[in-house]
Amino acid sequence: MSAPMTVAVGMGGNVGDRLAALRRAVAALDAHPEVDVVAVSPVYETEALVPPGAAPQPDHLNAVVVAETTLAPYAMLRVLHGIERAAGRDPFAPRWSPRPLDLDLLLVGDAAFSSSALTVPHPALARRRFVLTPLADVLPAAVVPGLGASVADLLAACPDPLAVTQTDLSLA
Ligand code: AMP
Repeated sequence: MSAPMTVAVGMGGNVGDRLAALRRAVAALDAHPEVDVVAVSPVYETEALVPPGAAPQPDHLNAVVVAETTLAPYAMLRVLHGIERAAGRDPFAPRWSPRPLDLDLLLVGDAAFSSSALTVPHPALARRRFVLTPLADVLPAAVVPGLGASVADLLAACPDPLAVTQTDLSLA
């Protein structure tokens, strides 16, 4: 078992009971013996990002969870994939498909590394308002490794035009 690390997990979904999927994901993470959920952001309703020319998709619900874990990053990614499958996510669906649950490992302490299976920090983090907005609620001062800017500063500079609207839904 390694020393505990603080990780941030981005959550989203745009198919089925989106709130139930997010709530179950938080509960499943917290139920893991090596994961302790320490903060949960508000829930946002966000316009779906689709590739140019693709059909529009239903809005997502998005949120971010902060957890302490003794799991290594790849083990954490496997846990996230297991929770996605339990929510009905088809691992073989095409990349931009609507999905009941998407879990991304956004930050792992101050680590920065990349392999074919895992890039940390998540490579799209700074480009996506639907990620930065809830991340700024829970870790505003965290400096993103490799970018040298805080989450709050990245959000202030983010040009993403897709709408991100806070809801009064709660995951706590
Ligand atoms: P997604 O479509 O977001 O579920 O991601 C598809 C694949 O991206 C996963 O199977 C992971 O192997 C890979 N991936 C690379 N970096 C990350 C990361 N930081 N968080 C989650 N998935 C990642």
